[in-house]
Amino acid sequence: MMTKPRTMIAGNWKMHKTAADVESFFKDFIPLTKHVNPTKTEMLIAAPYTLLATAKAAVGKANIRIAAQNVHFEAQGAFTGEISIAMLKDLGINATLIGHSERRQYFAETDQTVNKKLLACLQHGILPIVCIGETRAEREAGKTGTVVTTQLRGALAGVKDAKDLVIAYEPVWAIGTGLTATNAQAQEVHALIRGLLKEQFGAVGDSIRILYGGSVKSDNVAGLLAEKDINGGLVGGASLKADEFAKIANA
Ligand code: PEP
Repeated sequence: MMTKPRTMIAGNWKMHKTAADVESFFKDFIPLTKHVNPTKTEMLIAAPYTLLATAKAAVGKANIRIAAQNVHFEAQGAFTGEISIAMLKDLGINATLIGHSERRQYFAETDQTVNKKLLACLQHGILPIVCIGETRAEREAGKTGTVVTTQLRGALAGVKDAKDLVIAYEPVWAIGTGLTATNAQAQEVHALIRGLLKEQFGAVGDSIRILYGGSVKSDNVAGLLAEKDINGGLVGGASLKADEFAKIANA
């Protein structure tokens, strides 16, 4: 029987917090998560660019990976306001979210830009956490499977070696709304994603972590994680408070 890959509990702070907030968050969070076993659970927080260095320093040797929320695919150049992979690496950052639905919705990210970012991350050895998921209208129209398949295939176009890759399934209707997919709804889509990953990458597809995101909280995380193809959570609102996010990581 296939053993489940290491769980990832990832927070997404979006456009929240200042440097002082970050210091106080980790002062609380690190002791609250000292019993989280790093061989079983990887903790990660995607922080705003301006807080990456502060967060990295505040985490010190604790088992908490700091990630960016976005990155540009070009190595350098006239791209005002953008940040390159080399700039992230310069800060010791080796992971980033890609294609979060808010990036797609408000900043014109497409499957094509997500694909370029993904290829650049894999080429330069930083872990991409690729977000996909359907809107409420798409779900109600029975298009969840098609949308997720198109987004995943688009993101992974031309990818041959997928050892260091994480997928986050985040139904848009569940993000920041307090509505969570049921365990069965989430597992159904995760199973579809797993099938597509195995179709493209063979047995490696079983080792790629697929996170669920969308109003994950300490009282619903255990049920979601018990599902066969759910390998962790991407947590927005509930990752902002040290005690609540620690409860999720300890689940
Ligand atoms: C997210 O931003 O990725 C997210 C899942 O947000 P929330 O947990 O607040 O729904």
